[in-house]
Amino acid sequence: MADLAKLKADLAGIAIEDNPAIVKQKSRDFFWYSPVLKRQLDHVVGDLVVTPKDEAEVIRVLAAAHAHGVAVTPRGAGTGNYGQAMPLAGGIVLNLAEMNKVTAIAPGRVVAEPGVIMAKLDAETRAHSGQELRLHPSTANTASVGGFVAGGSGGVGSIRWGGLRDLGNVIRLRIVTMEASPRTLELSRFDLHKVSHAYGTNGIITEVEMPLAPAYDWVDVLVGFDDWMDAVRYADALGNEDGILTKEIATVAAPAPFDYFLRHQKFLKREQSVVIVMVAPHSLDAFLAFTGREKGEIVFRADTAQDLKGLPPAFELAWNHTTLRALRVDPSITYLQVMYPFPDHQKKVARMTELLGDEVPGHLEFVRFDGKVIPMGLPMVRFSTEERLDEIIRIHEEEGCPIFNPHRYTLEEGGMKQTDDVQLAFKREADPDGLLNPGKMIAWEDPNFDYRAKKTFLFPGLQAAG
Ligand code: FAD
Repeated sequence: MADLAKLKADLAGIAIEDNPAIVKQKSRDFFWYSPVLKRQLDHVVGDLVVTPKDEAEVIRVLAAAHAHGVAVTPRGAGTGNYGQAMPLAGGIVLNLAEMNKVTAIAPGRVVAEPGVIMAKLDAETRAHSGQELRLHPSTANTASVGGFVAGGSGGVGSIRWGGLRDLGNVIRLRIVTMEASPRTLELSRFDLHKVSHAYGTNGIITEVEMPLAPAYDWVDVLVGFDDWMDAVRYADALGNEDGILTKEIATVAAPAPFDYFLRHQKFLKREQSVVIVMVAPHSLDAFLAFTGREKGEIVFRADTAQDLKGLPPAFELAWNHTTLRALRVDPSITYLQVMYPFPDHQKKVARMTELLGDEVPGHLEFVRFDGKVIPMGLPMVRFSTEERLDEIIRIHEEEGCPIFNPHRYTLEEGGMKQTDDVQLAFKREADPDGLLNPGKMIAWEDPNFDYRAKKTFLFPGLQAAG
């Protein structure tokens, strides 16, 4: 048992919070999106929240935590929804929210501290030189850029730029290692894969350098279709129109838009599926011509932020905000993450709709993936039991639609169901005692874990509650 009093004394001068209510609040992310993670993680809580104001303080915290053998789980804004930021082994929640400065802006690039909220970052780069991040999650108004790199994957902008793991979408990261004398390292090129989407298990990001794109006053449009597959075909074709600049294309199957997008309900018809689009102003004419030809009905359009008249921006209807809005109306809703491989993606979407119908209402996000436009599925699921959820996953996989399971908190089970050797090797180097965000990398905890056995990994400390 670590001596927390001594640890606190070592951290004198750094902001520490041990009020149980606040520690509990800062120990939670959006894990509860998943009924499975809710059952497993609801009781998880850290011991202390430590809030460094700069990299020097991060180094002091990691050195002290290392000396006392205390776990450290980094936290940006806590909006991750796979339980990535849940401190499974207790210890320190390292709250990076106060490291929130944009430090340099240049043509095509920005350097920032990890805790800056992405909407704030975009506001600064827009004001400075009419630039913005290439991509951001639909939580841009609340989530941090460091948390996005460490825990996210893509989002608004991915129709043009692909995902975070694509070369060029992160330029450079500076990290601090978890050792007796923590080191700072600069990572770029392929080395970025060591810590990108590694949930902070092998280094604390203290600076990010991200590429920027020209900022536009994106026009929000909702396009209605009486038939779901017509909406899917339209969205796919729009994503392939090389001359029309879009930042977001998503489809949501009827009746979900009408039933769940309550603030937009007056514009929607219950029987219509909806395509959510953000289009650049200079592409609007071409977009309107294209949509007219494809017989889409424009049911909502906001050319400027003022036109929204208090409504949320279109991107807050998309990505996991679709699920969030559904959950608010029907708490039994959860979701899945599905890949519909190119070139049969439309057929596969139609097949899954035929097999699962309204139990799994369709929601697709069109993105560039390996240079092709494909729909990534974030279908909603009317949850009944964990067994049925597993069966729905199995049905997808049998039909050739891989699932990235959002009901698992480990890197491996949520993603490729295999060890990421690069991330594991880097953890051996950068966190030899395994103190950073314990429990999230199975390969570290249990090198013999058999993924084929289809058993869920449970971090030892969780077994009682799970
Ligand atoms: P946190 O949740 O605080 O952390 C995420 C992970 O990164 C954790 O493992 C944490 O330990 C680690 N971490 C945080 N900061 C650091 C650091 N400085 N160094 C090392 N590790 C660190 N995600 C998407 O990718 N695309 C989406 O479109 C999207 N939409 C969402 C919509 C909703 C409604 C919700 C609830 C979630 C959504 N997410 C999405 C998930 C999440 O919001 C984003 O990935 C977000 O960028 C996470 O940022 P955060 O600051 O909240 O990170």
